[in-house]
Amino acid sequence: MDRIVLKSFGKINLGLDVVRRRTDGYHEVRMIMQTVGLCDTLTMRKTKGEKISMKCDLSFLPTDRKNLVYQAIELMKERYHISSGVAVDLKKRIPVAAGMAGGSSNCAAAIKGMSQLFGLDLSIEEMCEIGVSLGADVPYCIWGKTALAEGIGEKLTRLSPMPDCWILIAKPGISVSTAFAYKNLKLDQLEKHPDIDGMIRDLENQDLDGICSKLENVLETVTIPKHPVIRDLKEHLLEHGAEGALMSGSGPTVFGIYKEKHTARRALESLRGIQDVKQAYVVRPV
Ligand code: ATP
Repeated sequence: MDRIVLKSFGKINLGLDVVRRRTDGYHEVRMIMQTVGLCDTLTMRKTKGEKISMKCDLSFLPTDRKNLVYQAIELMKERYHISSGVAVDLKKRIPVAAGMAGGSSNCAAAIKGMSQLFGLDLSIEEMCEIGVSLGADVPYCIWGKTALAEGIGEKLTRLSPMPDCWILIAKPGISVSTAFAYKNLKLDQLEKHPDIDGMIRDLENQDLDGICSKLENVLETVTIPKHPVIRDLKEHLLEHGAEGALMSGSGPTVFGIYKEKHTARRALESLRGIQDVKQAYVVRPV
């Protein structure tokens, strides 16, 4: 095999709790992760020579060692003594720096791609071990689907799949850095924590109403006061038929959950002309 095309899916968080701040600065989390049908495409091919070359359709993204895809290829070339060159072409659709783990997902796809392209036949565990050295969310992106992520995000438990529904994803035109959100979280002042265990039970029971009633993300206590557009967007989705709405990850992407496709589509239409929204899609859980 000389060339491989991979889909790299984004995620949302149905629940995001921070349990503890560690002395090394990392945060211990409990997050319910859900892959959604919005994906970037990664084309990888073997090339003559030894070099890694990378192209991306978003000119503002780095295509050198700062890109997680580049880092994954470099690390695997070294670890598995691969001398061949690798060219990679990345087409982005997942909003960037938006709380949807776009970079981590691309990194996970690159690890899988290298394994297949060079016949390494790596196990999920081995790929996760490589992934966690590049980012806490990378192991989850290797797993995909519905999962509980604990520790710094790398301790994973498979959960029952999300019941079928339609998810409207909307990214406002502001940026929130993950570091900013976690650094400014006042853990001791949180009035309540998300009911992660309750949501796990709702997933087992395929209870979409239960899931929608428990959507909660503690990082909203940081991002909403600073960027009220996040709250406005959630309210807009709820006023337009969403069963529940939440900010994903460290934001600023907001998602709404809908039972019917036409309601989700109408809500998508209602976002047209709202200048604050830069990217919006209707997708399903994967
Ligand atoms: P998370 O949800 O894991 O916090 P995110 O969705 O907020 O991630 P990303 O889209 O992964 O954020 O991008 C964060 C930063 O990472 C970008 O500003 C970008 O410079 C850098 N980056 C490195 N590699 C990639 C990549 N392949 N795709 C997107 N961003 C990348």
